[in-house]
Amino acid sequence: MKETAFERETRIRAAWEKKGTFRLSITNREGQETFVFYEGPPTANGLPHAGHALGRTIKDFVARYKTMSGYQVIRKAGWDTHGLPVELGVEKQLKIRGKDEIEQYGVESFIEKCKESVFSYEKEWRKFTESLGYWVDMGDPYITLENSYIESVWNILASIHDKGFLYKGHRVVPYCPNCETSLSSHETAQGYKDVSDLSATAKFRIKGKENEYLLGWTTTPWTLPANVALAVHPDIDYVKVRRGSEVFVVAKKLVGQVMQGEGEVLKVIKGHDLADTAYEAPFDFVSVKNGHKVVLADFVTDTNGTGLVHIAPAYGEDDYRAVQANGLDFVNVVDRKGRYTDAVTPLAGKFVKECDVEIIKLLAGKNLLFHKQKYEHSYPHCWRCDSPLLYYAMEGWFIRTTAVKELMQKHNQSVEWFPDHIKEGRFGNFLENMVDWNIGRSRYWGTPLNIWQCGECGEERAPHSIKELQQWAAGAVPDNIELHKPYVDKVELLCECGASMKRTPEVIDVWFDSGSMPYAQYHYPFENKALFEKQFPADVIAEGVDQTRGWFYSLLAVSVLFTGKLPYKRVLSLGHILDENGQKMSKSKGNALDPVELIEEFGADALRWALLADSAPWNNKRFSKGLVSQAKSKMVDTLLNVYSFYSLYAEIDQFDPEEEGEETRSILDEWILSRLNTVIKDVRAFLDAYDFTAGARSIASFVEDMSNWYVRRSRQRFWGAGMNPDKRAAFRTLHEALKKTAQLAAPYTPFLAEDIYSGLTGQSVHLSDYPKPEKNRMNPQLEQEMSSVLQVVELTRSIRNAAKIKTKQPLARLYILPAKHQDVSYLLSYTSIIQDETNVKHIQPAGTLELVDYTVKLNFAAAGPKFGRHMVELKKRAEGLKKEEISRLLQDGSLNLELTDGTRVNLQKEDLLITKHTPEGFALAENDSFTVVLETALTEELKEEGTVREIIRAVQAYRKELNLPVELRVHLFIHAAANIQKMLQKHDQLVQSSLVLRSLHFEKREHMKAFMIDGKEVHLALEK
Ligand SMILES: [Zn+2]
Ligand SMILES: [Zn+2]
Repeated sequence: MKETAFERETRIRAAWEKKGTFRLSITNREGQETFVFYEGPPTANGLPHAGHALGRTIKDFVARYKTMSGYQVIRKAGWDTHGLPVELGVEKQLKIRGKDEIEQYGVESFIEKCKESVFSYEKEWRKFTESLGYWVDMGDPYITLENSYIESVWNILASIHDKGFLYKGHRVVPYCPNCETSLSSHETAQGYKDVSDLSATAKFRIKGKENEYLLGWTTTPWTLPANVALAVHPDIDYVKVRRGSEVFVVAKKLVGQVMQGEGEVLKVIKGHDLADTAYEAPFDFVSVKNGHKVVLADFVTDTNGTGLVHIAPAYGEDDYRAVQANGLDFVNVVDRKGRYTDAVTPLAGKFVKECDVEIIKLLAGKNLLFHKQKYEHSYPHCWRCDSPLLYYAMEGWFIRTTAVKELMQKHNQSVEWFPDHIKEGRFGNFLENMVDWNIGRSRYWGTPLNIWQCGECGEERAPHSIKELQQWAAGAVPDNIELHKPYVDKVELLCECGASMKRTPEVIDVWFDSGSMPYAQYHYPFENKALFEKQFPADVIAEGVDQTRGWFYSLLAVSVLFTGKLPYKRVLSLGHILDENGQKMSKSKGNALDPVELIEEFGADALRWALLADSAPWNNKRFSKGLVSQAKSKMVDTLLNVYSFYSLYAEIDQFDPEEEGEETRSILDEWILSRLNTVIKDVRAFLDAYDFTAGARSIASFVEDMSNWYVRRSRQRFWGAGMNPDKRAAFRTLHEALKKTAQLAAPYTPFLAEDIYSGLTGQSVHLSDYPKPEKNRMNPQLEQEMSSVLQVVELTRSIRNAAKIKTKQPLARLYILPAKHQDVSYLLSYTSIIQDETNVKHIQPAGTLELVDYTVKLNFAAAGPKFGRHMVELKKRAEGLKKEEISRLLQDGSLNLELTDGTRVNLQKEDLLITKHTPEGFALAENDSFTVVLETALTEELKEEGTVREIIRAVQAYRKELNLPVELRVHLFIHAAANIQKMLQKHDQLVQSSLVLRSLHFEKREHMKAFMIDGKEVHLALEK
């Protein structure tokens, strides 16, 4: 049984394991320049998907290519282990929900459960990573939950605190009421969804007036019970307008829209004239001492709503600032779970986002609803649990990233981005709109924020290390204290004022963990300083495009805050993997591809090739099983077949490439070696520019040429017995072509490449140097000429196909015409190849004009606009063009004509529709470079030879069927009609040269197999 791709890969993986090939690929390059690669840490509490396969393939590709190019590439794995998803998973597993129940369950046990669950899928990840052929050191990964990692993160946080960039603030932040935690702006950016909501225009009665109202507008009616002010723009014009018995204040520009054309404008006033106007709030659930009046604010516009904006400071950033600026009260009617507090009696305990309708009903009941409207907008949802987020004023810890914004932007300019538009686009925009990093999370499973506060004097201290914690602690702290909740919470520090300091209860945003990895993966600065220096910054990082707001951002922010330095030189930002219809893959839709299943079915080489060769990885990629299967048959199997062919004959002849001996290279040898070196040159250039796709296409076309042209055309050279200079040249050429193709392909298809290369040389391809082009072997003219030969052959085949003439049927003559003035006499030196490939007796380059006739029509669509009134005459002239004129037009591309009125026109090729014809017994085909005409008429003689060739083919097929070794000479017995026997005797030389025979007999044997040849039975027997 032939081994499957997966079996082959498993065999090679075992050999790597045994020989320590991965380790050797790094230690071998000790002392060489390093090429630094950072692993963006995945989380191991979920299964890998197709997107991970792309990311890991590209990372492995770059590392293998750079290693083969002479660099040392250290590849440390990493695991991202903290964060809310882990907590939510454990909550689900324990069937508890929310913080109260976690506290009830016990924080220590909860943390232990989190720790256990983090590596639930580690085994699957390991299997996936190994079977994909991703070489990364999983024996010594960095793990964000480990003390050494956390200590490094603490050191970074403490140094940021030292600089005054880590502060406690009150900020309105995106908040998930379900997860009970705030989200960073980069997290928020990941969850926008289009939803339909209600906006409301409420009547705010002006104090002291019976029937005068300010019309306040809001897109979040649920915030109305917490109204503190109305904001107007100082410079906008407002009007008082009467409708019925009521008077309303509204922006002048919006009066038509708001009043629906009704009402009478009484007077125009400026926004600042409205300042301090006191009003009665629509609801009085909470008391507001300082508020319920009009304030001035620049963010108000008169492009929609009423031009007066309802202000609830707890639920909007602008609102919060406006209230702060005017010294008004802060009120909050929503609890941490997003429900109304008891103060809002009729709605207490209800989720606020679902109360817009209730609030509007309550307003209407008080006759304070002016208008309500449904509207569609994009609203942020929690990227984890999908709950709509609230904007919510919270106390929290922030990092003043805005203080280093300019440096981050400056650094971004020197990053090489793939694709390059990310620099100014997605990433540049994100930096431009950056806000301070909301770093604290009121949760449990994360790196604890290392800030201790004094309850008495308010002093803050942030230990840089475990040692400092021990020094500052009020009691003893063990060296191996676990740096997690609740253990660190038990440590109290001694304040200079004499009081005790307690740790602030928050843990930090997980993105800060992963952003710290350049430092924390080596426990810097506590250990490995030299190694860190060597491994900073990264030459390349590669992750999905969604990481522009995630890891790409956090790496840059942490590094700039900590050291001011840029952590990476190059970022490969990868598109998403979509299904074949362009839909996002998801388990629930059932269109997700499991990378491990694909590898087991087709092999990792095929999966990797499919991911890299089909389209550039920067854009979203349509992907399917079909692509992987195609990659296997087109690339992997083709190359493997060439190698099997070589191995078969090398085994028979005991060929040793090192052995001395004369060789005579054929023109095909020269050609394939020239092609090889040109491809080496091209692929290197593509890969140095991170163009994986163009590199793959170059290799694929070379493999195709090697298999379908070089090997096929050279096959007979391997057949003869013994060694001779021609055969030796063929062996050496194919050996070299295969060896270097394996090296070229090694980063793409590491298993296949290893199988071939180690089979040829006994060494590992991944320990070899990427091939360099040898200039003296490159012969562009020869490549050009052979490419023409291939085109001529291809065109001739297409004629045979169209005319349904079998390849085995010899034909008399082939004429070759160049499309432009061009000497094609060089084709004469390829006559034997063309004859053989096309099975045509005579090849005649050029000089066949008389065989081609033309029908010409004017192309009205192209010519009409150009020649207008001359069209009638032109049509006649075109149809009457002489053959020589058309031929000139085709060669030159244009033709000058003089019309009857003396006008000179320049007729272009595309102004005409030219059809070529051949006389009976001929057929033509053409491409941009050539027109070939094939004489298709058959003489008796040609027919006879055709029959003989069919019989030869039948014999070859029969040999194969009997599984006879290719080099075995046999006795052939043929029993057929007399005229067929005569034909065979006449063409004895052809028969003998085509078949490996000991003898040929025309007689009947006992066991013969019958073949139908041109409608007649021919009986064959083969004997050893
Ligand atoms: Zn959530
Ligand atoms: Zn104190």
